[in-house]
Amino acid sequence: MRLLTGDRPTGRLHLGHYVGSLKKRVELQDKYETYLLVADLHMLTTKLEKADIQKVLDNARGMVLDHLACGIDPAKVTIYLQSAVPEIYELNLICEMLVTVNRLSRLPSLKDMARAAHITEMPFGLLGYPVLQAADILLPRAHVVPVGKDNAAHVEITREIAGRFNRLYGEVFPEPELLLGDVPTLVGTDGKQKMSKSLNNAIFLSDDAATVEKKIRATFTDPKRVHADVPGTVEGNPVFIYHDAFNDDRAEVADLKERYQRGGVGDAEVKAKLTAAINRFLAPLRERYARYEKDPALVDRILLDGTEKMREVARATMKEVRSAMGIGSAWNRLRKAAERRAKEG
Ligand code: ATP
Ligand code: MG
Repeated sequence: MRLLTGDRPTGRLHLGHYVGSLKKRVELQDKYETYLLVADLHMLTTKLEKADIQKVLDNARGMVLDHLACGIDPAKVTIYLQSAVPEIYELNLICEMLVTVNRLSRLPSLKDMARAAHITEMPFGLLGYPVLQAADILLPRAHVVPVGKDNAAHVEITREIAGRFNRLYGEVFPEPELLLGDVPTLVGTDGKQKMSKSLNNAIFLSDDAATVEKKIRATFTDPKRVHADVPGTVEGNPVFIYHDAFNDDRAEVADLKERYQRGGVGDAEVKAKLTAAINRFLAPLRERYARYEKDPALVDRILLDGTEKMREVARATMKEVRSAMGIGSAWNRLRKAAERRAKEG
């Protein structure tokens, strides 16, 4: 059984990635044959300047390090560069035939993405974002896809495309299952939008202790609470969402919540304890960063070998796809007929 998921190489990975998808990737790497893609073609849907493209390799290397820091074992998983697998372009085109424009235009996720990137007119490629994701998932014929909530509807579209393909041409693709993370959408430090690399509201897995402290100090809390003795709201409050997600000291969290709700604790204490908790959570990651950052050749090797391996898998899938569809047959018959005529001469 196979697992596929991935990230756009638009920056380093953050706490949102961890709770939304990375944690599951680490937990499931022993159970599933795991494929992780660096989605540089998906990046083009909102970032297509030459300067963005030039950053892909460095960002990809950073993403590999982030995975290793979280406990991904390079001997077990395949990490690859999407743009270096030629078959993805081909399968994407076939997937495009199996979904309607209407279905795609209704997706709120695409409108959110356009808004976040300050795009007013929907590009054809951004409308096709979920279709390219379907091609990503179907290329290794994945069974499960751990993603955050912003991508949940796209896995549903993949299931529809796989189903339609199978009904038209015979069973080639499993209909992949969505696996949502423990926190399907982690809010950013601005308290408004989802934590995102592109929105300047992220705490990165690679942030050092002082940076974490600075970001937590600036994190949005209950705006109605002007003094420590004013009762505050815990629900939807970023600092408590983070406490719930990352503080391993449950008794401390329960005590802070109780005092916060009756006006018995200041923001400073809530935030100091949160900073300590996040730094505790990041401590083992920092050890692994220190180990792997010394070995850039290993990081490159992971990407090189992973891409080679994925290319083989992709060739095998596309051979089956073409044969199921009979799509090369007109060309093959033309060539055979020409050979026959040449012999008959
Ligand atoms: P970009 O700003 O370039 O869109 P991003 O931070 O939104 O970057 P993606 O590469 O789009 O990250 O997402 C990678 C994976 O992480 C997806 O499965 C996505 O659902 C998940 N993810 C991203 N941000 C969050 C978040 N704040 N909470 C939960 N899951 C998230
Ligand atoms: Mg995104």
